[in-house]
Amino acid sequence: MESAIKNISQNFSNTEKMPVLFLGHGSPMNAIEENEFVTGFRNIGKTIPKPKAVLCISAHWETIGTKITAMQNPKTIHDFGGFPKALFDVQYPAPGKPELAKEIVENVQKTEVIPDQSWGLDHGAWSVIKHLYPQADVPVLELSIDYTKPPEYHYELASELAWLRNKGVLIIGSGNMVHNLGLIAWDKMNVDNYGYDWAIEASTKMKNLILNGDHKSLVKYDLLGNAFKYAIPTPEHYLPLIYTLALKNENEKITIFNDKAMAGSLTMTSIKIESI
Ligand code: ZN
Repeated sequence: MESAIKNISQNFSNTEKMPVLFLGHGSPMNAIEENEFVTGFRNIGKTIPKPKAVLCISAHWETIGTKITAMQNPKTIHDFGGFPKALFDVQYPAPGKPELAKEIVENVQKTEVIPDQSWGLDHGAWSVIKHLYPQADVPVLELSIDYTKPPEYHYELASELAWLRNKGVLIIGSGNMVHNLGLIAWDKMNVDNYGYDWAIEASTKMKNLILNGDHKSLVKYDLLGNAFKYAIPTPEHYLPLIYTLALKNENEKITIFNDKAMAGSLTMTSIKIESI
């Protein structure tokens, strides 16, 4: 451990502590549309010092075991169907950063992090990161979500990534706090801030718990009642939030943005955590 830390300090210089983000990514179409959420992503990007790299925990990379993309040039993965060709034409050619992947592999103690050469950037990553860094000039790595593990595991694993914030790495959890695709109100797609009662209830409770720093309750979300059962039918879009929260220090400031419901059963609510 000690020698690994020495290794980091030689390879990556210290920076000002980087913020941490959770981005509600919503529909893949946000990659190519102009809307208020895209504006929100762009605006938040402008408030953050340009990172040396982005580490993204995306809802759309679930694996057995924890993997990290370790290739020089991650490919753009179009992991969806039924969308216009213009969306499949999008390429986001941000480079990888294999030497940073190696440092992360060497420094995480909680589990073996497996370097990966076959994934790339899924839409959970590129559909939002492209609005923060449209030139694709910031290296992007992804850390997978081990779907066999409970939320507590993810919270503890994430806390081991905290040192990256002092190395110029912007950590982004990309998912949706409320995400129930099975109950989407397709006919209400264009109605502003339309959420079912249970979606609003879960969203409001989540925001209160986040602002109160009650991470314990958020990790044990299955005990929070029926609204949460509807809001989080499967954990993959919620767990990136757990990664983001685990990286918060006491007394850090939380900014909530893009705080709207969509189509009944989704929220785009996003957060930024930063030192003050
Ligand atoms: Zn998604």
